[in-house]
Formats: sequence, structure tokens, C-alpha cells
Amino acid sequence: MGDRRRIVAGNWKMHGSLASARELAAALAGASHEAAGGLPEVIIFPPYPHLDAVRRVLDDAQSAAGIAVQLGAQDVSGHEQGAHTGQVSAGMLDDCGCSHVLVGHSERRSAFGESDELVARKFRRAADHGLIPVLCVGETLPEREAGQTGAVVLKQLGSVMKRCGAGAFERAVLAYEPVWAIGTGLSATPEQAQEVHALLRGEIARSNAKIAAGLRILYGGSVNGANAAPLFAQPDIDGGLVGGASLDAKDFLRIITAV
Ligand code: PEP
Repeated sequence: MGDRRRIVAGNWKMHGSLASARELAAALAGASHEAAGGLPEVIIFPPYPHLDAVRRVLDDAQSAAGIAVQLGAQDVSGHEQGAHTGQVSAGMLDDCGCSHVLVGHSERRSAFGESDELVARKFRRAADHGLIPVLCVGETLPEREAGQTGAVVLKQLGSVMKRCGAGAFERAVLAYEPVWAIGTGLSATPEQAQEVHALLRGEIARSNAKIAAGLRILYGGSVNGANAAPLFAQPDIDGGLVGGASLDAKDFLRIITAV
């Protein structure tokens, strides 16, 4: 896998309260890291209203000997600013201290009808503001069963490459999240995930081999403390995007140290 530094990212979705978000952030940032030296990058994605409070908790913990935890948002508007009630711009996320933002999570694509085109606009907007987009791609179960996995993820990736170019992946992260594995307890096997990760890396390499070699591609879909290590051992899997198991500090730390 070369010298790509691993990433473990926690998507908190719409769970918890302000108090529990602060508590969880403090537990992560304050955790002593026995795995010193080999720690991955750690990023958490709390709900919007909790971002500022979580950032303060992380800032306070930063001077202590805890884990360095970065902050991300779960979504971003494709617009710069304006009359878009309920949306949050990339500039606002930057102001909140976010370094990363998820774009194209399957729940946004399916429940909110986000098209590949809109996801590409969000990616571009985030990158223009210096945020690191974490682009999520993945197939549904019927698509996998129909043998369309490769075509689906390449189409999702392709629309971002078309709008932003392969160069945009120099400062981006890719996440392969099979929809059938998200929140179901049914993870892809390491071999299934590796096959798609290699395909995605190969696609970027066709445009720019150096960027492809340095790109971190995360696997997401029912990652837990038990299955993380064999998944992360695959040559093209550079860490995980974790939902459910990121809501418990102990579970999430087990995944972090599995790296
Ligand atoms: C996710 O929300 O991106 C996710 C992968 O969730 P879970 O780990 O719960 O499957």
C-alpha cells in the first residue's frame, strides 16, 4: 500500500445530543494512544449544530497528549451562498473549523435524490474553499447482483473527474461504501472491497498515476472492531468510514487501533 497514511473517519449521522457529542469528542481526543507511532488520521463528522461545540472540545484537548482528531461535516451545499433555506455553504463549514466534508453519501443520494452532477458540484465547492472532500461511491444490492458494481462506481467517480479533473484528487479522499453494507451488519468481504478499491485507483491512474498512488480510499459499510483489521490489510484499502461503531468511543478506538 505504499506510504499512504491510513484514515479512520466516523460519520455520526443524525444521532445524539449536544452533550453526547461533546462527551464522545472528549473521549476520543483524550484517549491515550498505546498504538503511538502507528496511529491513522482520525476524522469525525458530527451533525451541523454540534460542529462548533465539538471543535472547541477538540481544540482544548489538542494540547493534551490525546489523539489528534480532525473535524468534518456530513454534507455541503453546491451553492456558494444565497436563498437556499436549510443549506450550509462550504465557507460556513470552513468558518466552523472543518477540514473535511462528506459528499455523495448514499443516504444523500437515495433519500435526498442527489444526482452525480450535484455531488460533483458539492465536491467542487468544498475543494474551492480548501476543504477536503470525502467522495462516497457505492452500488446497491440489485446493482451488485446484476454485475453492475464496476459500472456504477465508475460513473459516480467519473462525474466528479469530468467536472474537477483527476488533479482534484490530490487533495481528496475517496470512500467505497456498498449501499447494502451500510448499517446492515453485513460488511463486504476484504476481497470484494479490494476488487472495487483497485478498480477505482486504476481509473484515477489512467489520468494521473502519481495522484492515484497517493490517494486514500476508505472502505465503509458495517466496519467494526472485529472486521477492521482484515479489511485494512488489503493493499488498496487505506482505512475506514465508520457509521454505527463510531458512536461509541470504545468501539471506535478499537477500529483506530486495528490500523
Ligand atoms: C456510513 O454511514 O457511512 C456507514 C458506513 O455506516 P455503518 O458503519 O453503520 O455501516
